[in-house]
Amino acid sequence: MPERPLILQSNDDGVHASGLRLLRAALLEVADVVTMAPLTEQSANSHALTLARPLRHRTVDGLHAVDGTPADCVYVALHRDGFLPRRPDLVVSGINHGYNLGSDTFYSGTVAAAREAALRGVPAIAFSCGPKGSLEQAAKVAVEIVRRVLAAGTPAGGTPLLNVNFPAGAAVHHGIRATRLGRRSYDDEVVTRRDPRGHEYVWLGGPNAHHHPEEGTDTEAVDAGYVSVTPLRLDMVYPEHLGLAAFVAGVGELAPEG
Ligand code: MN
Repeated sequence: MPERPLILQSNDDGVHASGLRLLRAALLEVADVVTMAPLTEQSANSHALTLARPLRHRTVDGLHAVDGTPADCVYVALHRDGFLPRRPDLVVSGINHGYNLGSDTFYSGTVAAAREAALRGVPAIAFSCGPKGSLEQAAKVAVEIVRRVLAAGTPAGGTPLLNVNFPAGAAVHHGIRATRLGRRSYDDEVVTRRDPRGHEYVWLGGPNAHHHPEEGTDTEAVDAGYVSVTPLRLDMVYPEHLGLAAFVAGVGELAPEG
């Protein structure tokens, strides 16, 4: 019998999150799964690595946890001697509680855990689910997506890094769409208050996000009830601005505005 694939799992909501545990249970049907998740919630901590203090590696309900960031978890799991029985075939992150769409991908710890793996040449998928979406239903579809990614191997263009979002609400998914990143704007807000000692503090972030209607995007897909699959790139160079870079470097003329 062929060896079952090995999947390393992490997230940013922490080792206690139900999205993590439901996805793990579903994945165990098709693969060996090692879970290494942050001990506490790390949402919006992006790709931070903890370099200035020691990390504690613990087990919680039989799952591995590190008191650091999502990227720390993947880093430790991939590089700690003897931790994994072999190099994983895939790293999955999530299922995150809440969307990671459009520019969320810069802030998301869920995406960063997957990206940390892709940077090391391990195919990776970040899974996120919109508010009040069915995590059970999402986990089932996630297993199907995992099967297909494993079957695809390494495509042209190198190590795949996929960002998957499941639609909000309890409705049955309409299907799966391949998308690019849309635009999502938040009510940017800084709330200023005073603590019980009279010292001022500020709290970041407004409650609402708005999607700009654009065809073929992740935001459009989930708003229409589809599961969204977006391939992300590791090479962040913007070719359209190489001329600007050359001008700034003093070796080129600026092209006239189009
Ligand atoms: Mn999260």
